[in-house]
Amino acid sequence: MKSLEVLIEGKWEDKVVISNNINYKTQLMAYGGMGYSNLFENTIPLIEERYGDIIKKLTLTNITRLLAWWKKKEKEKVKLKTWKCQWCKKEYEEDKDGFSKNDFLYCSMPCLQAHTKANFK
Ligand SMILES: [Zn+2]
Repeated sequence: MKSLEVLIEGKWEDKVVISNNINYKTQLMAYGGMGYSNLFENTIPLIEERYGDIIKKLTLTNITRLLAWWKKKEKEKVKLKTWKCQWCKKEYEEDKDGFSKNDFLYCSMPCLQAHTKANFK
């Protein structure tokens, strides 16, 4: 609490974020410690009593500003190479298998058969 008072009185309240911390089981209420509610039941009322509504800065405004840089990354869509069916001229991404004959590539057996019937012209 003393360090916090030094920061607030030094006009650093725009740079301060407060939270609760539990390092050991013995800090939990079940083991006789102050527990997670310590900040809300003891520290915050004390700060409010001494410094008024500065608590909103310490628990909300400052952390919101601190984390404002973070943006969820868009997943990059990987553009796959494409290939074109020799007969129907439709384009497919490389993950689709085709049929090949005489160095020609087809999307389906009907396309291969149609091109064969046309004597590969
Ligand atoms: Zn085709």
